[in-house]
Order: sequence, then C-alpha cells, then structure tokens
Amino acid sequence: MAITTSEIGKQGLRCRGPRQETLLRMLENTLSHAERPDDLIVYAGLAKAARDHAALEKIVRALTEMEEHETLVIQSGKPIGVFPTGARAPLVLMANSNLVGRWATSEHFYELEKRGLIAWGGYTAGDWQYIGSQGIVQGTYQTLVAVADEHFGGDLAGRLMVTAGLGGMGGAQPLATVMAGGVALCVEVDADRIKRRVDSGYLERGTESLDEALAWAREAMDAKRPASIGLLGNAAEVLPALRERGLVPDVVTDQTAAHDLRYGYVPAGMSPSEAVDLRDSDPEELARRARASIATHVECMLAWQDAGSVVFEYGNNLRAQAAENGVDAFRIPIFVERYIRPLFCRGLGPFRWVATSGEQADIDVIDDLVVREFPDNPLAQRWIPTAREFVRQAGLPSRISWLAHGERAKLALLVNDAVRSGELRGPVAFTRDHLDPGGVSQPLRETENMPDGSDAVSDWPLLNALLNAGSGADLVAIHAGGGGYAGYMQSAGVTLVADGTAAADDRITAALTADTGIGIMRYADAGYETAADAVHASGLRWFG
Ligand code: NAD
Repeated sequence: MAITTSEIGKQGLRCRGPRQETLLRMLENTLSHAERPDDLIVYAGLAKAARDHAALEKIVRALTEMEEHETLVIQSGKPIGVFPTGARAPLVLMANSNLVGRWATSEHFYELEKRGLIAWGGYTAGDWQYIGSQGIVQGTYQTLVAVADEHFGGDLAGRLMVTAGLGGMGGAQPLATVMAGGVALCVEVDADRIKRRVDSGYLERGTESLDEALAWAREAMDAKRPASIGLLGNAAEVLPALRERGLVPDVVTDQTAAHDLRYGYVPAGMSPSEAVDLRDSDPEELARRARASIATHVECMLAWQDAGSVVFEYGNNLRAQAAENGVDAFRIPIFVERYIRPLFCRGLGPFRWVATSGEQADIDVIDDLVVREFPDNPLAQRWIPTAREFVRQAGLPSRISWLAHGERAKLALLVNDAVRSGELRGPVAFTRDHLDPGGVSQPLRETENMPDGSDAVSDWPLLNALLNAGSGADLVAIHAGGGGYAGYMQSAGVTLVADGTAAADDRITAALTADTGIGIMRYADAGYETAADAVHASGLRWFG
C-alpha cells in the first residue's frame, strides 16, 4: 500500500461515498500502525489487517467501487463478494479466524494459515479499528489507577512496576504507568522495539544494563518522579536476576505475546532472529523452549506475589502456558475480574474515535465536547486532560475515552451534528476494542470467574454482532482467536461512521444503544447487581 500515515487524511474522496472512504481510511490507518507492515501484521505476534497483499488490493478496490447500499463480505481477511443489501445495511461484514469447536486448536490454525485459508484478526487489526498503542493506553492506565486505589492509597508515586513486552500494545505500559504517577521497568528482548517506543514518545529511555536500569528506577522512586525505563533482555532471565538482587516490585505484570509459542514469546538464551530461525526449522522445539521459559517467568512472578507484590495477568495467556508445564499459575489473578469488570457492569469500556480528515483540530473539538457533556463521568474528566498532555498522536488523529452506555450514542450524535455543520472538517469513525462489555467471551480474561459460571458461553458476542448488524452499523465483525489464542476467545467488533447525514443519526442511535445495551444485559444476566441497575436506568426492555 503506497499511502503513508501523514497522507491518509489528505486523500480526496476515492470511493463512491464518505462511508466507504472512512472505512478505507480506517484500514490504511490500521496498517500505518503495523508492527510488521510488510507481512500486514499489526500487533500481538500474528494479528493481521488482511489475509495477504492480493487480498488487500482487492479489499481496497471493492471499497472504492462499491455503492452505499451494498455490503462487502470478508472472510479471514479475504474479500469474498459484494451483495446488494439496502440503505440501512452494514457496508462491511467480516468473520475472521472462526473454527468449529473441536478444530479450534493452534496446530490446526497454523496448518490453515500456512495454506492461506485463514488469518487471525486479533481484536482490532482484522476489522481495521487499531489506533496504535493509544488504543490500549487508557485500559492500562485505568487498571493502574484501580491498583493504586486498592493497594496504595490512590497514589503510585514512588512505586515500581516491573513488566515485559514493548510491542504494539505492550508499548502502552510505560506511558500508562507514567500517567498514573509510577515508575515502569519494562524488559524487552528486541532492541528495535525499545527504540520504536522511545521514538514514539511512549517510553522515556532504554538501556542494556540491568545495573543502570535499577539505578534509574531507584532514583525516580526516591524522588517520587514518574519514569519509564526499557531494559534490553529476556524476561525469563532478567526477572529472576532482579529477584536474586532482592528486588520486590510493588506491581508486576507482563505483556509479552506469551499466548503464541511460535510467534510471540522468545525463549531464554535466544535472540529474536534465532527464534525465527528455529520456528522455520523446528517449530515444536521452539514452542517447547518458549513454554519452559514462560514457566520460569511465571514462577518468578508467583514468588514476588508471595513476597507481597501486587501481581496480575494482563490477558496474554501467560498463566495458561505456564500451567501446561505444571506451574500453579492461576494463583495469579486476571486484571479484568479484579480491576475492570465493575466498569463493564456499567457499560463503561474503551470507546474511541478517529478523525478521518487527518486534522488534530477535530479531535480537540471532540475532547472539549466530552469534558463538557459528561461531568458525571470521573474517568473521562480525569482522562481527557491527561491524554491531551501525554499521548502523542500517530496515524490519523484519534482519541480513546472510556464512556458508558448512553454516553457513547450521545457523543456520536453530537459529533455527527458537528460534521453536518462544518465545525468538524471530515467524517469521524466511532469504534471500540472487543474488550468491552458487549464484545467478548474469553474465559481466561474478560469473562473469567463470572458469578453464574457462564465464562465460556460465546452466544453473547455473537448476539452483539447480529444486533449491531441489524442496527445498521457500518462495519460488523465476528472474530475468534488465532495462533496461540485458537479456541480461547470469541469476540465482536463494530464501527460507526458519523458523516453528518440523518441516516448516520439513525445508525448511531440504534447501534451504539444496542452495542453496550447487550453488554450490560450480559452482566446483569450473570448476576451483577450494578449491571442490573444500569439496565434499569437505560430504559431498555429486559426480561431478566
Ligand atoms: P507484540 O507481538 O506486538 O509484542 C510482544 C513483545 O514481546 C515484542 O516486542 C517481543 O519482542 C516481546 N517479547 C517476546 N518474548 C519476550 C521475552 N521472553 N522477554 C521480553 N520480551 C519479549 O504483542 P502486543 O500487541 O504488544 O501484545 C502483547 C500481549 O498482550 C498479547 O498476548 C496480547 O494479546 C496481550 N494483550 C492483551 C490485552 C487485553 O485486552 N487484555 C491488551 C493488550 C495486549
């Protein structure tokens, strides 16, 4: 794809309508953030925006040629056909990486992937909703704020978080820690990733020296100054070395791509390129070594937990991998149940929007709207000024802000008005992470330990997708886990285009009410009283 980041917003109208053009820009924007653009891999080891380059070209052609009343159907990143569906139908429908239950294993996925029959979309790569590390930064920040509230009297000043992985999403950890006032020591095995995070403003500085990293961390902690440090090394080696020196961090987590033993976690004693070579020559041996290293890594986290550190998994299947090697890994809690689910029960989750004009001024206008319109949302009130100060924009200007049921539709309608009046210079795409109240079943992450035991019931995200499609959302996607996540998750994605039309008002009202509405009903159905209260307050009809 020839278009570069800064050019996306400056394109003229290449499609037959602004909705198609907006989705094309979302695709281009997602690719502009890719960790490995040549392979169309956006993040999480293997999550792709399109099956291959031929499929990508056809998708672009389809988006430029299709009419507003048509629907493009995409199967695992490959366009299948365009159907005449009507004015209120989605423009794009996708199913990415879904396998029939008994066949949903990583081995079968890799086999199909090799034969070019499937691609994993991650959560937001395959359905073109990725906005770079900003997309995860508020989730990590909210988690750390909740950690601070529960364990450290509301303040992370002078507190040390040790973590690993500075990839597409893990790269948000240092910035989120600094925003929350703490000190982050992030172990990363790939020097290029450290450089990339420093260059993008997400990480303050990096070093190859453990002594230097510790000295920087101690100095910042003593001064109670927020700081972020990247340390080149392998987590399975560096964490035990830190323990040997008697360090007990305040907070420990991890965001290596440990879910994938072939594409995600570099075993101890190997460089990233040696791991790639072993993947080609003996993938089983690579997986065996990766799992053994993860076991060492998690044993260290458990020892720290026993010594008093606050330890949690951040949703990379690290515990499941270690448990396969006999480690008692599930003594470590998952962050969602512990810190985030109370927000989900109120329909609060990672809502985000993208200014397809490419103009930062459009995001500034919407920032002001959020602060003005939602005085009772303390998350947004604290987040927007913090994000303005800390988040350096990349790609199309965008913003994430956790908004609740009702707030999302209200904001999108106001923005649609502002597009109509010309206050905003172009259409705005509204979307969200799949990690959202209505978007996902993942029994080892978002839906771990549901009170009624419904952790693995995947009817919920499938209903979410059907409902969003019925509501006329512009893009609706059904994703299942690929690579190491095969068999572990089912999720749904949705995108709405505010192009200033009355039709967009209708789509926004219906879909953004449905999207979080089914989410709060899901948690109410599972037995959460706060969710039941949110459903009653919403005025939606519920048969619970
Ligand atoms: P990525 O593939 O872009 O980056 C992974 C990083 O880990 C790479 O930079 C890699 O070099 C590094 N790494 C691998 N092995 C290492 C080791 N042994 N020691 C130190 N560094 C090592 O992946 P990503 O997009 O950053 O995602 C990371 C993981 O976090 C994934 O498993 C993803 O699914 C998970 N995640 C979950 C959520 C959530 O919703 N809870 C959010 C973000 C990320």
